[in-house]
Amino acid sequence: MSLTKPYDENNIFAKILRGEAPAHKVYEDEHTFAFMDIMPMAEGHTLVIPREPAVNMFDLSEAAAEAMIRTTRKVAHAVRTTFDPHGVICAQFSGAPAGQTVFHIHFHVIPRWEGVEMNLHARTMQEADILADHASRITGNLA
Ligand code: 5GP
Repeated sequence: MSLTKPYDENNIFAKILRGEAPAHKVYEDEHTFAFMDIMPMAEGHTLVIPREPAVNMFDLSEAAAEAMIRTTRKVAHAVRTTFDPHGVICAQFSGAPAGQTVFHIHFHVIPRWEGVEMNLHARTMQEADILADHASRITGNLA
């Protein structure tokens, strides 16, 4: 998988943005969309994506990058308020060897607690009603 791979309009996050696939929405604005990760590495694991069709950090525009980090910060604050973690990971993987599995750029917002191991990456589906509850609680804590 090349870092300069063309954007695939049928990737799952493109379908979520077009409303063709479901997602537990946390937040959206003109430039970004945030929703629960369906296979969370920890309770409250949220994804932030730009509406811009970018594969990774290397074809993302500066304007979309700015919008993404603003939304990531906003979501991280709300995740912190909701789950009271000891730490929060805000991470982005560009390219398959870096761990990227969905080729529409995204930031992960993952709460961390001392002494609690993270779940494996993209491995175990969470129940829809739990994701819906987490999404509504995070949304309720957005500033
Ligand atoms: P990456 O490995 O590309 O950094 O992260 C992709 C993330 O998307 C993974 O954490 C995975 O659990 C999540 N994911 C994959 N498919 C779906 C989906 O259909 N819906 C949602 N909400 N998350 C997904």
